[in-house]
Amino acid sequence: MDTVTVPEAQAGDPFYAAIKARAERARDLFRERGSEIRRLDKHTWYCPSQQDDETAPPYVVHYGGEVESCSCPDFTHRCRESGQPCKHILCIGIANAKSRRGVMFHTSAVITDIDRLRSDVESLRGEVQAVR
Ligand SMILES: [Zn+2]
Repeated sequence: MDTVTVPEAQAGDPFYAAIKARAERARDLFRERGSEIRRLDKHTWYCPSQQDDETAPPYVVHYGGEVESCSCPDFTHRCRESGQPCKHILCIGIANAKSRRGVMFHTSAVITDIDRLRSDVESLRGEVQAVR
């Protein structure tokens, strides 16, 4: 299996300090307005703005594909250049991780069916041998 090493955040490193601050804002945004997140297609999402103005249009976030981006000013003016995610990209990351729970549940349901199928095959095998 391939392993990915994620470097430890170093205290005082401005790159990690900025990501940590955005991650905290992303968590708050998800808590406050996560129910407004909409998935448009496999890699495109609408993420609400954190501003109090609930009529503000959502940002368009491309997440999980080859290129990740957001239509917000923070990403356009700061994050893109430094290769950092904005809080909206991180917020969609949280939403995406939450949606994976369903996939895991579905997978275990499939495995349960395979186990039942296996036991059905075993009992059929026993019946076939009894006939012989
Ligand atoms: Zn953004």
